[in-house]
Amino acid sequence: MAIATINPATGETLKTFEPLNDVEIAAKLDLAGLAFEHYRQTSFVERSHWLKAAADILEQEKAEFAKLMTLEMGKPISAAIAETEKCALVCRYYAEHAAGFLADVSVKTDGSNSFVRYQPLGAILAVMPWNFPFWQVFRFAAPTLMAGNVGLLKHASNVPQCALAIEDILQRAGFPQGVFQTLLIGAAKVADLMADDRVKAATLTGSEPAGASLAAASGKQLKKTVLELGGSDPFIVLESADIEAAVVAATTARMLNNGQSCIAAKRFIVAEAIADKFEKLLLDKFLALKVGDPMQPDTDLGPLATPDILQDLHQQVQAAVASGGKVLTGGQPLGDRPGNFYPPTIITDIPQDSPIAQEEFFGPVALLFRVPDIDAAIKLANATPFGLGASAWTTNDQERDRLITEIEAGAVFINGLVKSDPRLPFGGIKRSGYGRELSIQGIHEFVNVKTVWVK
Ligand code: NAP
Repeated sequence: MAIATINPATGETLKTFEPLNDVEIAAKLDLAGLAFEHYRQTSFVERSHWLKAAADILEQEKAEFAKLMTLEMGKPISAAIAETEKCALVCRYYAEHAAGFLADVSVKTDGSNSFVRYQPLGAILAVMPWNFPFWQVFRFAAPTLMAGNVGLLKHASNVPQCALAIEDILQRAGFPQGVFQTLLIGAAKVADLMADDRVKAATLTGSEPAGASLAAASGKQLKKTVLELGGSDPFIVLESADIEAAVVAATTARMLNNGQSCIAAKRFIVAEAIADKFEKLLLDKFLALKVGDPMQPDTDLGPLATPDILQDLHQQVQAAVASGGKVLTGGQPLGDRPGNFYPPTIITDIPQDSPIAQEEFFGPVALLFRVPDIDAAIKLANATPFGLGASAWTTNDQERDRLITEIEAGAVFINGLVKSDPRLPFGGIKRSGYGRELSIQGIHEFVNVKTVWVK
């Protein structure tokens, strides 16, 4: 895949980049190693000062960064501005809390003094996706840099200008040279990086195949990884739920980021008793969405990020129809304009045991299923290889407790859509990956948890 900015709203190639050659990569790895030796000695106060400066830059220049994101991957500009603000938030969160999260923890034993100390590991590689081109990187960088590690970013090949802008922000914020570097390289170089002694661990957010490939390369080298992969999140609405509120959240949860979010609600599992009403209200909401130029502030749905994603999504829609699904709205690419536009789409009546019902639809396509009761809802929610998030709607306490306990996912949100929050751990189970980002758990992923015992 070429490293290039290609506007997904027009298909126009705006800028291409030469990938780094082996000599240039080696120089950056050397610099990362040298930077770590010095950076690990810096104090939490210094690191937090730089991270707060990064938050200031993000806030002051959010309009520019948002434009860059929208230009490279097509998210609506209002969402891109919100993403930049959230990056500032995660920087401030770790700037404030990292020292506490990584303070020595005293443990009473038979020694005179025993405790746990958290220490940095060195250069951590982040392989990141294009869908939240700033957020995915900052949610890695903020805890990683606060812990005293140095960061290497291999960003998705279609967001090179975002990748370079992030490196620039952290440099301007005052982080010493080499503490955070962007490597403009293709995916094929990742295994070599994992084999290099100067890279100590890695995190990847992206698809299952990419995750499996990184895990295999890291496994060979016995290096730790965190994987944030795909999802086919259920959105369960039971009979007692506030249906109007659920429909509003369902629309946002499916359409967020032009439908290209790992934690987007993808399978809508609705109690039979209220299914007609839910379906009608959801259809009304989908029909009211404004599809168009993502640079316009009132656009709800922009283009998909690449022509391949559009093609894959449409093939899935066709497979869903072939398996018995009925298209309520949408279902055909918007061929009347350039760019990768796909309309809001609802598909009902897909047989629950068909293979396509278990796949992740990475675009504005909602699959609607009807179930007789909570048992069937939970069973269907869990009938997927993924386990990232789940949103469930009920006003019944017993149902709520069962949903929290029995749904197989890294997160369950009751009467709200699944979202990430710096204060809460984020990650999945099953084929959605392993490890956690954000919160205290996130900053503990890439540190040596050193046991100290003194007689
Ligand atoms: P992708 O193709 O896996 O790309 C993600 C990153 O991995 C890119 O930097 C890509 O580089 C790199 N990559 C691809 N193949 C690789 C390989 N074999 N070895 C090493 N690196 C490789 O994913 P995508 O299609 O862009 O993103 C969509 C997927 O990401 C969806 O499944 C979505 O659910 C998931 N996602 C998960 C989360 C989460 O937090 N759980 C968040 C966002 C997205 P190139 O661009 O150079 O190919």
